[in-house]
Amino acid sequence: MITNFENVSREQIVGYLNETDPVKIQNYLDEAYKVKVENIGSKVFLRGLIELSNICIKNCYYCGIRHDNTNVERYELTERQVLEAAGFAWEARYGSLVLQAGERCNASYTDWVTSLVKKIKEISNGELGITLSLGEQSKEVYQEWFEAGAHRYLLRIETSNPELYHKIHPNNTLHSFDRRLEAILDLKEIGYQTGTGVMIGLPYQSIENLADDLLFIKRIGVHMVGMGPYLKHADTPLGKLVDHNQTLDLTLKMIATLRMMMPKINIAATTAMQVIEPFGRERAVKSGANIIMPNMTISEVRANYQIYEDKPGIKDDAAISKSKLEHNLEESGIEIGWSEWGDSKAFNQ
Ligand code: SAM
Ligand code: SF4
Repeated sequence: MITNFENVSREQIVGYLNETDPVKIQNYLDEAYKVKVENIGSKVFLRGLIELSNICIKNCYYCGIRHDNTNVERYELTERQVLEAAGFAWEARYGSLVLQAGERCNASYTDWVTSLVKKIKEISNGELGITLSLGEQSKEVYQEWFEAGAHRYLLRIETSNPELYHKIHPNNTLHSFDRRLEAILDLKEIGYQTGTGVMIGLPYQSIENLADDLLFIKRIGVHMVGMGPYLKHADTPLGKLVDHNQTLDLTLKMIATLRMMMPKINIAATTAMQVIEPFGRERAVKSGANIIMPNMTISEVRANYQIYEDKPGIKDDAAISKSKLEHNLEESGIEIGWSEWGDSKAFNQ
């Protein structure tokens, strides 16, 4: 029997995450799906994902496009390529876009993003919602992008445990847990719908760490969460420590638990889930997630944005990604909220 999740304890969460009985797990996931439908409805909202650039100044130990990985061919999309992808998303009736990239903070780059946000707003008559996922920036830059028209921002804390954070990042000022947390709070203060999240199944991570992550997410009161499995990339320090990827079970239990703890937030079914299982994102939706981010990046550069290995659809273009996703969602009986922003119902509460 599922308890009241309003005041769920760390011990209870650990118990749910440790559950191994398949029947009990399925009942738990089904319960979370019910909580979602009762609170925010059954629709899934789409955010077309544009991977602006794989150039990054950072060296996170898990990420395939980290600065020091010399096997990566670096790219930056042109303004025309970005606007074409945005135009596709708008015509395809995706309510929103996500602009994601490696982290860079120099003024010519941040000005470029400001102008892109304004132009995307212009070409879509203000109709496309814009989410950014461009790493840690100064509060002034976040403010500038907000005023240009971006209204949601995703910045994962990656793990809420500072010690673990320092095991999965170099120990220097560019990779500071406190700075990351400050940036998330800055985003909230400016007025963004703010999203965070963690990686699940990291080397050195315990189930207790994951329970703490869920309690952290609830405590800081974000409006959206994108969390997914950690996946191996051989050209990274962490990737050399693991030989195979995990199953989807733990991620689904995390999503279901979070949905019951925070019934009104937006929760993404991330692409990483699809790497583990072809229908991983659809299973996440049936366990409480309500957002999917189909890839819109042009096929010419997709292969260069491999944050983990075996990223699906790297040879596809936006039209193929769209038709595959629609087909999969239809097959799973999942309804799409076409042309809707699908803002978080937890925002401004
Ligand atoms: N550079 C920005 C940042 O780090 O916030 C945005 C882009 S970054 C590629 C987006 C997310 O990818 C990160 O927050 C991290 O959680 C995730 N990521 C990176 N490497 C990963 C891996 N090997 N497995 C799973 N997720 C990974
Ligand atoms: Fe750069 Fe983001 Fe990858 Fe870290 S996770 S190396 S900041 S792209």
